[in-house]
Amino acid sequence: MSNSVLVIEDEQEVREMLSFSLSRSGFNVWEAASAEEALRRLDGPLPNLVIIDWMLPGMNGVDLARRLRRDEHTASLPMIMLTARGEQADKLKSFDSGVDDYITKPFSPRELVARMRALLRRSGAPEDGVLKSGPLRLDLNAHKLSVDGKAVKIGPTEFRLLELFMRNPNRAFGRGQLLDRVWGRSIYVEERTVDVHVLRLRKTLKPYGLDKLVQTVRGLGYRFSSD
Ligand code: CA
Repeated sequence: MSNSVLVIEDEQEVREMLSFSLSRSGFNVWEAASAEEALRRLDGPLPNLVIIDWMLPGMNGVDLARRLRRDEHTASLPMIMLTARGEQADKLKSFDSGVDDYITKPFSPRELVARMRALLRRSGAPEDGVLKSGPLRLDLNAHKLSVDGKAVKIGPTEFRLLELFMRNPNRAFGRGQLLDRVWGRSIYVEERTVDVHVLRLRKTLKPYGLDKLVQTVRGLGYRFSSD
């Protein structure tokens, strides 16, 4: 999977223009026409980045951004806000709202893509779509795992787990957080399902002596670490 972006913009023309140019730049584009629709969408597996238009009907972009920052599930989601031309107040508001960057309309798609790439780099997303750790290579575009250049079979859930772990090395995740991030909040899964899939992931890595990368954090959950 390539990097995914959720575009939240009520104006259909702008949304379609963004969708078109971002798809062409290799992003997997999701669309929402309102904050409310975006919130429903973000209950599931998260995109790698969101673009929020400031002017939205119903809940506006600033309130949406604040809400996403406050919610543990979406707190670290990279966000770019679109603002209207020359409105300094918007800029301030967008910073207060916790967005990572803002871009003033009208903008060139090329500029937006450059900002997106910079933000993804800062948030640990691989530019070439390949996450690396020692001999491990997780190719997000081809959806393939390899160790020392040799292809390794991996299940889809284990893939998503490993992707989250490799994007966040040394970070401990609780079972509930893993459920939210890998399975999404919209479906009900028992916490022990997480253990089952972590076990499978370790089994996948074991023949290469890499199962120890997936560590148990007592009383909490799991972490991916080469230490
Ligand atoms: Ca708008």
